[in-house]
Amino acid sequence: MQTMKTPKKTVSVDLVEALLEAASKPRTAAQERRTTKLNEAIKANTAGYDREHDAFFDKKTGVWLEKGCGHKDCEFCKNRPKKKKL
Ligand SMILES: [Zn+2]
Repeated sequence: MQTMKTPKKTVSVDLVEALLEAASKPRTAAQERRTTKLNEAIKANTAGYDREHDAFFDKKTGVWLEKGCGHKDCEFCKNRPKKKKL
């Protein structure tokens, strides 16, 4: 039996192009601010990670440093309070 060669190259090239295109898109100022805030909090060790909701929060205030994914049925986000109880 002859094995069919799957066009893997084509797929990965498409994927790389898609990734490059996504990476070249300018991020919005809001996205930039959020990521910076999260990175700074992690570096400064003021961010805690909540396993239950799969998100980082500010250890001092309980404010989430990440937005929920927005899916109504997401088990991580659906029961997430406005702030984490500390
Ligand atoms: Zn979610």
